[in-house]
Amino acid sequence: MSSFTKLRKYIDIGANLTDLMYTGVYNGTKKHDNDLEHVLERSWKFGLEKIIITAGNYEESKKALELANKDDRLYSTVGCHPTRCLEFEKEKSPTEYLDQLRKVIENGKSKVVAIGECGLDYDRVQFCPIDIQKKYFELQLSLSQEFKLPLFLHCRNAADDLYSILSKYKLHGVVHSFDGTIEEAMRFIELGYYIGLNGCSLKTKENLETVASLPSDKILLETDCPWCEIRPSHAGYQYILKEHQCVSTKKEKWRADSMVKSRNEPSNIRQVFDVVSKMRSEDPDTLSNIIYENTLHLFHNQTERNASSKQTEKTSPAASSGKKIQHPSPVKPGVSYSSVAKGQLSATQQEKASPAKAEQEEKTPEKTLKKKGKATQQKSEPEPKRNPTGTIKRIPSFSGKKDAAKSQKTDGEGKGKQKTAKIAIPNTSSKAEKRPAPESFVSRDDSPTSMQDTISCYKFIQRAARQAAEGMRKLNELKCPLQKLEFLMELAQSIFGP
Ligand SMILES: [Zn+2]
Repeated sequence: MSSFTKLRKYIDIGANLTDLMYTGVYNGTKKHDNDLEHVLERSWKFGLEKIIITAGNYEESKKALELANKDDRLYSTVGCHPTRCLEFEKEKSPTEYLDQLRKVIENGKSKVVAIGECGLDYDRVQFCPIDIQKKYFELQLSLSQEFKLPLFLHCRNAADDLYSILSKYKLHGVVHSFDGTIEEAMRFIELGYYIGLNGCSLKTKENLETVASLPSDKILLETDCPWCEIRPSHAGYQYILKEHQCVSTKKEKWRADSMVKSRNEPSNIRQVFDVVSKMRSEDPDTLSNIIYENTLHLFHNQTERNASSKQTEKTSPAASSGKKIQHPSPVKPGVSYSSVAKGQLSATQQEKASPAKAEQEEKTPEKTLKKKGKATQQKSEPEPKRNPTGTIKRIPSFSGKKDAAKSQKTDGEGKGKQKTAKIAIPNTSSKAEKRPAPESFVSRDDSPTSMQDTISCYKFIQRAARQAAEGMRKLNELKCPLQKLEFLMELAQSIFGP
């Protein structure tokens, strides 16, 4: 048997292509030319059929759509990451911020395929307090409801709360970068959600056990690039096929035809598939097809959604705000990837010390440590079951030309019917009603939320200590001093970030 596998087709459901690393900028320093075009060339060459560009706030939502408009195979999300939810109260009112997001979705038509990434992150409450995260996560659910778009969900150390909020509504989507337990995964699945796997889902033995037990018709793949690469110190690394262990160059010695060391990119989705596939009993080709179909199934019928969103717009609670909407800049035909990226550069430079910038760190390998031994409380109340009602229509632009139609699923994910629960828009439209800044939040140390934050910090330290201890054990097994040094550097980076 040949050691080379045939080229499979992939869809990366989570690629942060608006990140400055693809313009050659790392931690504010320019290291090489913008190479997004080369990154994308490699992606298409190695089997990517489509890529969904993840957005983490309003500005990124605009940029992601702008990029997506450059290529038929690119799509984007619109939403605000939990660590950035203070933006809802920063310059405009929450309803105005929501209106801005809504406008991007309307401008995006069939290009915007999900709301997100949004969710809860209790490992980084220093950037946004829990109560604010919850409030604006729930607010964004109204966009999913209004446009009938799936949710691209972020969940860090917050599975119970995420579950309890989601269980109030009949929505659907994917919990991306999943690194929780199988019990947590099954609860989301029973609620109608898919599980998104990337390198951060494959770091530990426990992670791999979870991956082995997931139902294959609920798995989606992503890279979360430029973050979440699979590193040699990760439990999953050994299962990457040799031909997919790509040669990369240090950013200082960048070459257009080479990947950059420690910067993940969509073509590495092959590595994610290798590890996931190794953990499971299915034939790899069958599994690959199932995952591809799952992805189309979740994201494919946006035209139908957008059409009906026009009808629901008038009655939706969010749409009734009547606020004047500021349109994002229209996408100019012929704008290159590099020019889009340059725009981001100036925007991001301004944000250097902001939570948005810090959120990049959120995606660094340190997350690895945090995920282990996650405390999960099983709830005893019965979980709501989905009632499959949707008829599935395929969108030619997303579903692909030849192969996808045959593989459409028809079992439904509760997509068809208008959901019954309505999301309430918080009454915070006037500036005077703005929430206190994080500093004042910190001082409210007698509040239940502060208590929760303290517990989150405590859990984080515990997990970091566990990962360090495990790393030291592995270190002792290494003989070569150079290997030891390399391993130590990776371990430190994994804990503290690059
Ligand atoms: Zn995330």
